[in-house]
Amino acid sequence: MSNFNGLMMEANLIGGQWIKADSGTAIEVTNPATGDVLGTVPNAGGDETERAIAAASEAFKTFGRTSLSERVGLLHKLHDALMDNQEDLAQMLTAEQGKPIFEARGEIAIGAAYVKWFAEEIRRAKGEIIPAPGNDRRLMTTRHPVGVVGAITPWNFPSSMLARKLAPALAAGCTVVAKPATSTPYSGLVWGKLCQDVGYPDGVVNILTGSARGIGGAIMESPDVRKVTFTGSTEVGKTLIRQSADTVKKVSMELGGNAPFIVFDDADVDAAIEGAMIAKFRNMGQTCVCTNRFYVQAGIHDTFVAKLKEAVAALKLGNGAEDGVQQGPLIDDGAVAKVEEFIADAAAKGGDVVQGGKRHANGGSFFEPTVITGATQDMMFAKEEIFGPLAAVFKFEAEEDVIEMANDTEFGLAAYAYTRDIARAFRLNEGLDYGMVGINTGLITTVEAPFGGVKESGMGKEGGSQGLDDYMETKYFCVAGL
Ligand code: NAP
Repeated sequence: MSNFNGLMMEANLIGGQWIKADSGTAIEVTNPATGDVLGTVPNAGGDETERAIAAASEAFKTFGRTSLSERVGLLHKLHDALMDNQEDLAQMLTAEQGKPIFEARGEIAIGAAYVKWFAEEIRRAKGEIIPAPGNDRRLMTTRHPVGVVGAITPWNFPSSMLARKLAPALAAGCTVVAKPATSTPYSGLVWGKLCQDVGYPDGVVNILTGSARGIGGAIMESPDVRKVTFTGSTEVGKTLIRQSADTVKKVSMELGGNAPFIVFDDADVDAAIEGAMIAKFRNMGQTCVCTNRFYVQAGIHDTFVAKLKEAVAALKLGNGAEDGVQQGPLIDDGAVAKVEEFIADAAAKGGDVVQGGKRHANGGSFFEPTVITGATQDMMFAKEEIFGPLAAVFKFEAEEDVIEMANDTEFGLAAYAYTRDIARAFRLNEGLDYGMVGINTGLITTVEAPFGGVKESGMGKEGGSQGLDDYMETKYFCVAGL
């Protein structure tokens, strides 16, 4: 069995030590494409987490005071370590998560790009001099690392979601206790190895696998953890926000989405199809910014559906490790069952399955990429996140109506629209209640821009110049009696 060139860590990192599971308590990790067991990871809980928090608190005393040059230098080395190992890291990511290998390579690259971005951005984390009301004093603000950070991440981007948290935390001088998702732990644990390899001191980065409640509970209860950053479902996010109250932690939350993708009659339909395929079928539909609802204007509807159907039928499905595959398996059988439920609900309410619609002949958690037309606002997917390879197409007539329908959800992460009318593009940006709006593109994520949602999709931004804010406190400094 491959250990991906020594990158597959079957232990937890606590205070610089790799701790194996006590025998009998390990968790098996499987490859969703083959069902093969890749290896095991420890089933850690509250005790291990308390030790990790203690190590992170101790390490913060010195790491929080390291020079800017030192922190920047370490981040550049970490970037290079990721890119030097890109192929093995991508193979390991695909093996545990299922996404096509070209997407996994891209995920490692964007994770490394976040590390580099924050190495650059921390050099511009300036305070300010504030005009004082009297001549006897000088006022300024200075910026400081928040302290120990708890980071909890999901399985759909097991490497880059950690990058967006670790990189700004380490840039700011924070220390970290991280918990990757149980189904994809190796892409998280390896960050600990790479951080050690490039010279981060013991205790600066700690990574635990195991009981979500045990690890999460200890992180949330500890007064020493000053900030929690979470990416995952809105349901778990709400629990963590509640739990953060007792110790008044800073929290940032990247939660679920329900992205509308609006195609107007004046759109370039081929460009819209290209964007639609990326915005819907990347990672088999398992991204938080994936299109959940296609709204297509009546005049272009039939052309769009015909071309979408053709593009979806041409998708190559298989084991993501094979070059050329565009759709791998879903993460597990529960995800497949959920997609089947959406399809059954839509079919019962008058929707037409015009492409796919059932489990794939490959078996396991493979599912045929699917298109449903005749979608209506009373169908389950109008309200809930699909998180699978199912494109639901709604027909609309007027711009005002579609903005209202698009906003009719408690989520507000990403929205997309295709139009050649520049005035309409600005109206959409103002009218759509979303944290991110993409016009004439299905792919908006980039390290330079702030990623994050509004409403129940979360709070705080990752990436961009805003991505450091959550990891730094602004202190007001007043010198009087001058
Ligand atoms: P999830 O069930 O909320 O799990 C996310 C993480 O939270 C996992 O590490 C999980 O651990 C942990 N967790 C679960 N229950 C917990 C608890 N009670 N206390 C502390 N931690 C707990 O979400 P998921 O199914 O992995 O990911 C899919 C969701 O993430 C979707 O809703 C998607 O939209 C969202 N997402 C959002 C963004 C964004 O940037 N807005 C990006 C990617 C994904 P276990 O794995 O051990 O259960």
